Amino acid sequence: MGSTSTPCAGQTALFYSLDWDDQQAAKEVCAGCLLRPRCLQRALEVGGFDRWADGIQGGFDPEERGFYRRLYGTDVQRVRELPARFRTRPPASRSGAA
Ligand code: SF4
Repeated sequence: MGSTSTPCAGQTALFYSLDWDDQQAAKEVCAGCLLRPRCLQRALEVGGFDRWADGIQGGFDPEERGFYRRLYGTDVQRVRELPARFRTRPPASRSGAA
């Protein structure tokens, strides 16, 4: 997203970063955003699960949105049912890091 009325406005570098710490910081911004349900709904409906192109939307990175959509479709009301480990797990690209 990114209009002037959203907390993510003007934070493109943070929301589209490939750095894990940046991604977590962006998710923290989303966690306090009143538009999150609508934003996540749109992101799930539109799709776009490419890490570079789509960034953090609705509090999830593209990989997480793909996983969420496979589990629950576009029903954002089920976001609280996600296992805690899903919400906190590091991205796959870091799992093999030394
Ligand atoms: S949920 Fe996140 S990406 Fe969506 S509008 Fe809010 S801050 Fe921006």
